[in-house]
Amino acid sequence: MRLDSLLTDELTRLSDYQKKALKKLKLETIQDLLWHFPFRYEELGEHKIISDTEAGGKASFQGKITKIKLEKTWQKKMNIARAVLDDGTGKINLVWFHQPFVANLLKDGESVTVSGKIQKNKNGLYLANPFYTKTYEAKPRKFLAVYSETRGLSSQWFRFAIQKILKNLLSNTDNLLEDIIPKNILKKYNLPSLKNALLYIHTPKELKNAEAARKRFAFQEIFLIQLSRLLKREKQKKQDSFDIKINGKELDNFLKKFSFEMTKAQKKALESILEDFKKGEPMARFMEGDVGSGKTAVAATAIFLVAKSGYQTAYMAPTEVLAKQIFDSFLSYFKGSGIKIGLLTSSGCRKFPSKTKPNEATPISKARFLKWVGEGEIDIIIGTHSLIQDSVKFALKNKKIYLEKKLAFVVIDEQHRFGTNQRAALINKKNETDKKLIPHFLSMSATPIPRTLALTVYGDLDITLLDEMPPGRKKIATEIVPPNKRKMAYEKIKEEIEKGRQAYVICPRIAAPEEGKAISLLTANMKAVKEEHKKLSEEIFPEYKIEMLYGKMLAKEKEKVMREFEDGKINILVATSVIEVGVNVPNATTIIIEGAERFGLAQLHQLRGRVLRSTYQPYCFVFTESKTQRTLDRLKALKTAKNGFELAEYDLQFRGAGELSGKKQWGISDVGMEAIKNIKMVEAARIESQKILEKDVELKKYPLLKKRINQENSNIHFE
Ligand code: ADP
Ligand code: MG
Repeated sequence: MRLDSLLTDELTRLSDYQKKALKKLKLETIQDLLWHFPFRYEELGEHKIISDTEAGGKASFQGKITKIKLEKTWQKKMNIARAVLDDGTGKINLVWFHQPFVANLLKDGESVTVSGKIQKNKNGLYLANPFYTKTYEAKPRKFLAVYSETRGLSSQWFRFAIQKILKNLLSNTDNLLEDIIPKNILKKYNLPSLKNALLYIHTPKELKNAEAARKRFAFQEIFLIQLSRLLKREKQKKQDSFDIKINGKELDNFLKKFSFEMTKAQKKALESILEDFKKGEPMARFMEGDVGSGKTAVAATAIFLVAKSGYQTAYMAPTEVLAKQIFDSFLSYFKGSGIKIGLLTSSGCRKFPSKTKPNEATPISKARFLKWVGEGEIDIIIGTHSLIQDSVKFALKNKKIYLEKKLAFVVIDEQHRFGTNQRAALINKKNETDKKLIPHFLSMSATPIPRTLALTVYGDLDITLLDEMPPGRKKIATEIVPPNKRKMAYEKIKEEIEKGRQAYVICPRIAAPEEGKAISLLTANMKAVKEEHKKLSEEIFPEYKIEMLYGKMLAKEKEKVMREFEDGKINILVATSVIEVGVNVPNATTIIIEGAERFGLAQLHQLRGRVLRSTYQPYCFVFTESKTQRTLDRLKALKTAKNGFELAEYDLQFRGAGELSGKKQWGISDVGMEAIKNIKMVEAARIESQKILEKDVELKKYPLLKKRINQENSNIHFE
């Protein structure tokens, strides 16, 4: 048996049903199964003897199995395993529902320990779905691991399978469970070895051991991510990048054309970028700032320098709406500069300036667009995922000895919406050049995430925080509206619309559940865009024009609605959280968020950022159907927190890491997310990774770490 052996090879007696279930849980190898951690522990009842027992309460009994049999109820087609336990003092019935395999695993005459709640029916005392261990396998235990199950694979099954595997691995002389974390680190932070941690987490004698084990696995995950990101960064630093010239006078002139002065935070960010350009190595920077903090303006300035140095920039945004907006704002920033800008989305291409009208953009065919990009005719190429397509080839620049690609700068907006691979795909755009220069890279996000998470997932990037808003921005007046105050809120909204302003209404879902379809109570009350649209336009604001916007609409429809909203032809836009990213309509000053308890605070903050686009007083009405004090308290933080980062920290502490929006996209497991809550642990992981790389960037002394990190990197490559 090896850690990468397939479960289907190692575990005999797997039914097709179980094989399917394993697949569903994405458990393929021995290692996968060992890393399928319990989500809680069942405390077993005290040991008792059967003759002394009454119904009610938990207890454990040791005895012999008798009369084991499998029954199939005819009506419900349910499999039931039954047995009687005899401990010499008396007998008690055992019954297992939906676990037919128990009848195969236990035999008459076998000694077992069973544990469960004692119940009574006409046939006497019984235990339903009792936990059991074969006595000869283990001493009576106080705690039993409980796993997330799926039909066919019960917790019982997991306990058996995992114990069998652990036994096998521990007796194996090949030291298959060699520790990937260096011993001195384990010692320093008081973490159990891999062997012990696996035993502790699956078969703890005490809960504090299980906790120590979880801590170790959490640390390990974050440590490995940090190490691999820092390693990537170190390697990148050794590569060459494009030489971007900084002409102070030209730069000043460009900045003067902005209708505003940059904030201190923007200036600092720009300075860091200029420093990066001077280093000769590829810039790898992550700029994080609330919506409206002026990230795009900073990026535009850097792009200006790149274009003036004779190079191209690719600017990728996650949605068409956003790409189009960036294009539009770039038209005003770059007007009269001679720099040419292109927009590429799946619904068409545009180029600025138009040959005939120097202040306008013009639609052009994709073929022509691609030709112009390839010839270097277009300096700034803005687009969605379309930029990654193979057909997009950037221009080459002839330089005496070698051919150099002209794509020198890659900017990604709302970085977290793209996978690592998409990001890499753009940076490594096919390139038939002789010399490999790596483009500079600037990534941006308005999604406030906790510092611990940023340090981990963006470990390969230098981080710049735009923690200041441009002056003159009003603070959004935010109100938490319980059901009985709805009417008053609608009155205020009406006042705003009467003044000529516009409003958003955000709902957690698109449509109400279909009739007859099973739906949980939790989602049943969720407000839906379609119903809300109907209610608002028929009952509450019949005098206004109200439209809908949601992700599943055709791009064309979306664009039409957006255009009408931008043009002020629509008073109220009812939408899902699709508008979270990048919609920019300064005249929209009111946002209503329905079912606010469904959203994380950081997400709510981002949503309300939509109305922070002008100098009008903005309003945010947070509607909640929830009456629990906890929810109301949590929502109140929206009124008190200074910025999105504070709210992200709040989410992390009060809702737990699992609730952070978009947990999946960070590629961190539940256990790893526990570490994210712990700044000390994250910093420790970072410091230890740095220490290792300082002395041994090739990881020569750490073959296990090296192997693991190479494996992970190659996985990313081939995905
Ligand atoms: P972000 O990309 O961070 O959401 P933008 O760069 O798009 O922010 O800026 C939002 C709006 O604020 C734009 O209309 C932009 O022109 C304007 N803006 C940017 N920086 C400043 C500033 N320092 N002072 C005033 N307005 C600014
Ligand atoms: Mg932006």
